Amino acid sequence: MDLYLQGKVALVCGASQGLGFACARALALEGAVVTLVARRGDVLAKAAERIREDGAVDVRTVAADITTAAGRDAALVTSGAPDILVTNAGGPKPGDFREWTRDDWMSALDNNMYSPIALMQSVIDPMIERRFGRIVNITSSAVKMPIDILGLSNGARSGLTGFVAGLARQVAQYGITINNLLPGAFSTVRLQETARRVAEDTGVSLDEVQQGRLMAIPARRFGDPAEFGDACAFLCSPRAGYITGQNLLLDGGAFPGTL
Ligand code: NAP
Repeated sequence: MDLYLQGKVALVCGASQGLGFACARALALEGAVVTLVARRGDVLAKAAERIREDGAVDVRTVAADITTAAGRDAALVTSGAPDILVTNAGGPKPGDFREWTRDDWMSALDNNMYSPIALMQSVIDPMIERRFGRIVNITSSAVKMPIDILGLSNGARSGLTGFVAGLARQVAQYGITINNLLPGAFSTVRLQETARRVAEDTGVSLDEVQQGRLMAIPARRFGDPAEFGDACAFLCSPRAGYITGQNLLLDGGAFPGTL
């Protein structure tokens, strides 16, 4: 299936590894001109090189913190006005909510709520003028099924989800779609980190923690980030023009609800 992404301009945040990288790679291999953003320049440069080696033609990088105004400006200068925006940054730290300070909450809100909103604020009017835009926010299955130790994520991402529900309906008439992709458990560095934290807190071995997680997933495996990237590329394509304001779970069936 041709996704008609050839020449589309895409800005992908949090893209040097994991799910953001997979989205950037999928878009680039479909012919989009992709700018990858992440803070560690060396890791980012290697990530971009991997995508070029796989056959992408125009892959750009910006080493910047997307939670800062300067970082967002630098990203937009390099990409130019994007047709496609994928928002993403690191997830907040796990822990007990009794320990979290106001600074912890502000940091979580900056990472997982305000930065995506600020980016949307910058790109939306040019998208309206062009009568085309695709925005995908990488959030979390925690929006539908809260994870007890990730209260900062449960809270901040729910704020973004509520905001997007309104904005998506405001801009749909201009050919712009905004959707959230909700990862369950994907094989990434982040997944390893949260498993290690649970193992430390509970005194259970890392292997047992991972096995317990697998048993909670009907697919009995962790997701492959490439599967996430493919879903993102489809949602960003002109073919997905009638899908907007949705929260799409990619979780191997882990969410137990009927709808
Ligand atoms: P990851 O492996 O930790 O990768 C995060 C990426 O974002 C890295 O490229 C990182 O590079 C970049 N990044 C982090 N903070 C940034 C910032 N302030 N500015 C620019 N780039 C930043 O995470 P992941 O597993 O791919 O997960 C992506 C998102 O999905 C996270 O928010 C995570 O909480 C959420 N999620 C993941 C899973 C899962 O199973 N993996 C499940 C549910 C939710 P630098 O550190 O170099 O900046």
